[in-house]
Amino acid sequence: MASSTIKTVHLVVNPHSGYGGQHLMLADLRASLSDAGFEVVEYTTRWAGDGMEYVRTIDRNNAAVAVWGGDGTVNEIANGLSGTDVPILPCPAGTENLLAKELRIPSDPARIAQIFTDGQMVNCDVGQINGKNFLLILGIGFDGEVVRRVSSTRTGHISHLSYFWPIWRTFWEHDFPKMKIVADGQEVFNDFGLAFVGNISRYAVGLRICRDALFDDGLLDLVVFDCREQAHLLMHAAFTLLRLHPLDGGIVYRKFKNLTIETDRPVPTQVDGDEGPQTPLQISVLPTQIKLLVPRQQRRGVWPWKEKHARDI
Ligand SMILES: [Mg+2]
Repeated sequence: MASSTIKTVHLVVNPHSGYGGQHLMLADLRASLSDAGFEVVEYTTRWAGDGMEYVRTIDRNNAAVAVWGGDGTVNEIANGLSGTDVPILPCPAGTENLLAKELRIPSDPARIAQIFTDGQMVNCDVGQINGKNFLLILGIGFDGEVVRRVSSTRTGHISHLSYFWPIWRTFWEHDFPKMKIVADGQEVFNDFGLAFVGNISRYAVGLRICRDALFDDGLLDLVVFDCREQAHLLMHAAFTLLRLHPLDGGIVYRKFKNLTIETDRPVPTQVDGDEGPQTPLQISVLPTQIKLLVPRQQRRGVWPWKEKHARDI
């Protein structure tokens, strides 16, 4: 159980990720943690990469880290704590909180604080793309282009609406690249399309693209949609939204440890919601590299995300 080991909770706050009433919720979380007897050390990040530097300097004994931010901030903290036993709890306080949703972290501050007392510590794999860590999901091609367009026009707080015009424009202008994909030594795709690699199943706005992905199985999940033109993409998107994707007819789905992707021209990528490297890509997995704090399970032996996953399919 978590409570016997955790004495200090480092609350890492990204001041740009929250808005409106979330500041009140942050005050509630601070108070709930103190009431539960934890020493709370709060750190407000100042720039990208600052949170990662901070957690590298903390005393790791009896410590845990609560991340008050979105997936970008969580990714940074995971990078800083990779290879350590310091558990991370991602609070759903950003624009996109895919990991917090995957772990079913509640949004109520009192219930978040409770997880530090009676939650469970679980292992989580970390992915590597061209030597850099990633935690959640990456997209190669279409959504890499969307994220590149969003970042180039970004001025401040980002919302789902910030993605509308970039997606619209990318949709009409995107020229699908030819990709050669080799998974664990075997060529699995050599055609025009777009690809995703996931450590978790969730993708933006609730889509479950890498639908069988588990963050603790020591493998990453690859999905490739064969796509030559906009109509194919619409069809794939519609099936995915309806969770009816047949996973055949031009779709590759497989788990892997090592992957290479080469393309007919440099193609942008999206890594955990931010701009990533351009192709060619080397992708691999580092098993059980970080610890996460999750709510205590109600039923012994059944992970809720696996249970839900089984229901969805
Ligand atoms: Mg996995």
